[in-house]
Amino acid sequence: MKKIIFTAAALLAATLSAKDKRPNILFVFSDDHAPHAIGAYNGWLKSVNPTPEIDKLAKNGMLFEKSFCSNSICGPSRAVIMSGKHSHKNGFMNNGNSFDWNQQIFPKLLQKVGYQTAIYGKSHLKGQPQGFDDWKVLPGQGDYYNPDLLTPKGKVRIKGHCTDIVTDLAVEWLKESRDGSKPFMLMVQHKAPHRTWMPALRHLKLYDDIDIPEPETLFDNYKDNAHPARHQEMEIDRHMDPNYDLFVDLTAEFSGTPIQKRQDRSARRNMEKMTESQMKAWRAHYGPRDEAFHKANLKGKELVRWKFQRYAKNYLRCVRGVDESLGRLRATLKELKLDDNTVVIYSSDQGFYIGDHGWYDKRWMYEESLKMPFIVSWPGVTKPGSRDTHMIQNIDYAETFLEIAGAKIPGDMQGQSLVPLLKGQSPKDWRTSIYYHYYEYPSFHMVPRHYGIRTERYKLMHFYRFGNEWEMYDLKKDPDELTNIYGRKGKTKLADDLKKQLYALQRHYGDESDFSEMPQAWKDKNRPGTAKK
Ligand code: CA
Repeated sequence: MKKIIFTAAALLAATLSAKDKRPNILFVFSDDHAPHAIGAYNGWLKSVNPTPEIDKLAKNGMLFEKSFCSNSICGPSRAVIMSGKHSHKNGFMNNGNSFDWNQQIFPKLLQKVGYQTAIYGKSHLKGQPQGFDDWKVLPGQGDYYNPDLLTPKGKVRIKGHCTDIVTDLAVEWLKESRDGSKPFMLMVQHKAPHRTWMPALRHLKLYDDIDIPEPETLFDNYKDNAHPARHQEMEIDRHMDPNYDLFVDLTAEFSGTPIQKRQDRSARRNMEKMTESQMKAWRAHYGPRDEAFHKANLKGKELVRWKFQRYAKNYLRCVRGVDESLGRLRATLKELKLDDNTVVIYSSDQGFYIGDHGWYDKRWMYEESLKMPFIVSWPGVTKPGSRDTHMIQNIDYAETFLEIAGAKIPGDMQGQSLVPLLKGQSPKDWRTSIYYHYYEYPSFHMVPRHYGIRTERYKLMHFYRFGNEWEMYDLKKDPDELTNIYGRKGKTKLADDLKKQLYALQRHYGDESDFSEMPQAWKDKNRPGTAKK
C-alpha cells in the first residue's frame, strides 16, 4: 500500500513539474556598480572594456537606460527591492536601521506560489533572512578575502575571494541542491565592487599597462551647488585615504609611520585575514608600486590623479570579477539546459562616483549615483539588443518578479511591474517622473538628507535639513549637473511646477517623514558651509 501511495505521489509530482513551465529567475546583483562602468551603458569607461559578459547579456536582452534607485545606499536599496516599497514604507531608511523580515517581501510570495528561493552573498539587511529555502550571507559588509558567511547552520569561513565564493555557492546550488520539480528564484549578491575595492589575485595586473580615462568632472569645484556639495566628505583629494582605501603601505620601511589600525571595515583588517600565500602575491604586486609612490612624493592635482588611477583600477578589477561571475552562472544554466527558461537579470544597488565630481561613494541624487544598471534577458520575450527608455526604479523589481512567476501582486506595493516593458510594450500610463529620498545623516561621507524629483528633462532637489537649499538642473543642456538653475532669472515657473509635482509624489507614495529643518544651534555647530578653494 505504501508503495502505491509513493508511486501516485511521484506521478502527481511528475505531472505538476511537466506542466510547470513558469520561468526561473537568476538575479545577479552587485554592490556599487555604476552603469557608466558597464560597456553596454556607453559611459566614459567603455573604452577600457570593463564588462564583456554583462555586455553579452545586454546583447541577448534588454537594457534599461533610465533605471534609478529611490535612496542611493546599500541596505535601503535592497530593502526597497525586497518589499517593493519606498524606504519610508519598508522602515529601512539608512544603514543604521534593521530590516523587519516579518514584513511582506517578494521571496515569501514566490515561495507561496511554488518557487524555490535561494540567496548567496551580501544581504546587508541584518537579521536572519526569511523567504529563502537556502541562504548563505555575509555578515554586514563582509570581507573580500576568506570571508565568514552566516548560514542556517551557523557561521562558516570559506577560503578564497568573495566574488568567486558567492558564485561557487550559487553554481553548487544549481547543480546539486535545487529541487528540479520547481521553478526557482536565485539571488546572487556580490559584495564587489564595494569599498575597499580589493580585487582577486588573478586580476591585480588587469589595466596595469594603461591609464584609466579621467572623468570630465574630476576637478569639479562645486561653484554652483548648494552648500552640501562642499560640506561632504567623499573627495578623492581630501578624504580618500591612501592606506585605508588604497592599501598603500605606510610601514616604517617607507615613511616611519606605524601601520594604522583603522575602523572595522578597512582593507587592513581584511589583509590580516589573508593566508601567507595570498599576502605574498598581494605584496608582490603592490610593494614596488607603493615604493614608487613614496619616492614620487606627489602633491596637489598629481596626487589626486595618482589616487584616482589606483582607485579606478581596483574598482574595475573588482567589476571584472563580478563580470566573470555572470559568465560562469550563465554557462552553468546552459550546461544544465536551464538557459531557455531562465530570466537573467543584472543590476546593482545604486550607481557610484568613479572620480566624477572628484568623488567616490554614492548617496546623492545626482545622476552618477541615482542610476542603477538594469539589464534583462528573458528568452523568447525580450528583444535581443533592445534598449528601453521608460523611467524605472527599484520599487518596480518585486512586482516584476511576481508577475514573471504568475503570482498576485499585492495592492500595497508601490512600483509598476516591468513585464509590459520587457515585452516591448509602451504603456500609456507609465510614470513621467521618479521620487527620491536619502536619509543617512550625519554619517559616513556627510551627505545631508535630501529629497527630489527627476523628470525626463529636469531634476529638483531639496536639502531640507541643511540650510533649506534647493538645486535644479536641466539634464538635456547640462547632463553633468554643473549649472544649478534654481533661483535663476526666468526659472521660477519651472521650479514651482516641479515643486508641485514633487509634493504630489510625496502624497502619492505617502512620505510623511519629518521634513523640518535642523535646529539653528545644531546647524551653526555642524555646518561649515565654506567654499572649496
Ligand atoms: Ca551599495
